[in-house]
Amino acid sequence: MNALKTQLIARINTEGPISLADYMAECLLHPDHGYYTTQAPFGTGGDFTTAPEISQMFGELIGLSLAQSWLDQGAPALFTLAELGPGRGTLMADLLRATRGVPGFHSALQLYLVEASPSLREQQAEALKDYAPHWVDVIDALPQQPLFLVANEFFDALPIRQFVRDGEGWREKRIGLAEGDLTFGLGPEAPQPALEHRLLDTKPDDLVELSPGAAPVMASLAQRIAAHGGAALIIDYGDWRSLGDTLQALKSHKPVDPLETPGEADLTAHVDFEVLCSVATGAGCAHSKLTPQGVFLERLGITERARSLAAPLQGAALENLIAAHRRLTHPTEMGNLFKVLGITQAKTPPPPGLNA
Ligand code: SAH
Repeated sequence: MNALKTQLIARINTEGPISLADYMAECLLHPDHGYYTTQAPFGTGGDFTTAPEISQMFGELIGLSLAQSWLDQGAPALFTLAELGPGRGTLMADLLRATRGVPGFHSALQLYLVEASPSLREQQAEALKDYAPHWVDVIDALPQQPLFLVANEFFDALPIRQFVRDGEGWREKRIGLAEGDLTFGLGPEAPQPALEHRLLDTKPDDLVELSPGAAPVMASLAQRIAAHGGAALIIDYGDWRSLGDTLQALKSHKPVDPLETPGEADLTAHVDFEVLCSVATGAGCAHSKLTPQGVFLERLGITERARSLAAPLQGAALENLIAAHRRLTHPTEMGNLFKVLGITQAKTPPPPGLNA
């Protein structure tokens, strides 16, 4: 039994069952045993591969979209370029390289990374050493100036709570103990004001999810954009409104039991984009149409970019590039499952690749 599991069992023994959100928070960000603090999750040797790790084209096109939005907003002379959960720093490095030719963009930007994991901060420092990044724990610590921000697979890593409908109320899924090991159970039936609207589209025994951390993060970034201008691109897997259990535990690219080895598997859940949009609107921002990643990348010219990268290649390198293009865009791969959402000031069009 791993050390985190022993600690969790001791905690549940004294405190009683814990919510799935508490469990995920411990598994992902525990200072000694958390997944993001201890593991090397990304890439083919890790547990999962994210879009920026598949191909440089992803970060490059996001960079061009944000830089064009910066130009369209009058090229403010000082602005924050920020990323939420930058992982290994790959996306930001590609974005910065691709925007070198945009006049004034690099001299106007101040680079900020919102990252909870000390070991990933070290990797980001190495990947971005030419750009003097600053690290912050929360969006509210960013300077009061226009904000151009990207978040890829950040919201899916935030802890979720799960509720099973019981009549007109809900029972929360919790983690307790059975025969000395972790097990899922259900708490007592109770009303949930945050799930009032879900009584309309669910029936008894349906399961719905709630990410308590997502709305405050979106509120902070939308307030900053509403006050100072800028744009955010949120890319994640999920849909307008989620129904059913979407918790996923991945270890070495394979699904595993989420309770088996806490802290050793990546835990994610689908993002509920409806919640993000209503928070953004409530803070005075506009949001784009929720757009499949494949459509977004095609509109930005990923196929032309792939052709020009392919020109000098042959053999395995060429095959890899073709496979990467397909993985990022094809509807049966990441093209449809992943969605892109743009946030701007009300009346400001979304960044290129998205429609209002
Ligand atoms: N964007 C990267 C990494 C995605 S993994 C990519 O596409 O490859 C999720 C990232 O979010 C990691 O960097 C993780 O450490 C970070 N993270 C998770 N929860 C966080 C939180 N509450 N605050 C700040 N960063 C967080």
